[in-house]
Amino acid sequence: MFEALKRFRRERVLRRSALPDALWNEACRALPFLAGYTPGEMARLRDLCVLFLDAKGIVGVQGYEVTPLQRTSIAIQACVPILKLDLEWYEGFENVVVYPDEFVPHWEWEDEAGVVHRNDAPLAGEAMPRGPVVLSGPDIGTSAHRGDAQMNLVIHEFAHKIDMRDGDANGCPPLPDPMSRDAWRDTMRSAYADFRKRVDRGEHTAIDPYAAENPGEFFAVLSEVFFTEPPLLRRSYPEVYGEFVRFYRQDPGLRIAATGS
Ligand SMILES: [Zn+2]
Repeated sequence: MFEALKRFRRERVLRRSALPDALWNEACRALPFLAGYTPGEMARLRDLCVLFLDAKGIVGVQGYEVTPLQRTSIAIQACVPILKLDLEWYEGFENVVVYPDEFVPHWEWEDEAGVVHRNDAPLAGEAMPRGPVVLSGPDIGTSAHRGDAQMNLVIHEFAHKIDMRDGDANGCPPLPDPMSRDAWRDTMRSAYADFRKRVDRGEHTAIDPYAAENPGEFFAVLSEVFFTEPPLLRRSYPEVYGEFVRFYRQDPGLRIAATGS
């Protein structure tokens, strides 16, 4: 009964809140990694975006006005990781907050010795536990590059949300059966140790060195790479790539192979 009601509601939203073709096409064109998606995947992505925009507020702050194209782009990129999962992964928060630029969160935390630290470094994005996803408007597009590392702020922050579904952003989201938590942990731990070592000795890494910050950032950055530049992750950490294929239930590398790029 509950399932039927849910389905009925979804279908009503999909009927009433369809995205205009021109807007959808323009938003998709700006995201080159969508090129290899099958028509079936694109249709599902579009439905998920409509449901996402119905469920979440996308709110500009400090006078920032979010354009319909940006709203659509945020929705698409947020829905890419859950294309084969479900919108339920994003339950527990209401809004995506968009700032006119990078922002300083001013959050404080206490370490084990009781010393209070304060973060004053500007951020382009943040996923708050049980709170909103916060983004810097100019960084929403996918074409932002730092050096040669592919960056995708929206996928990054929503990967944190996926990770936080069972608590902290610790790089281990709740895994579906029959995936093994031990296998996931071992794979991520050894890849993370290797990556940290490379960053610590000053090696140039094609993957954003920010991934060396902590296991939560490692998962979020590698998720960006998985969806936007899958061959790089497959080459760098094939075992992580395999775990991601099982977890996200998609293999973005096959799409690249299909487009021949
Ligand atoms: Zn992060």
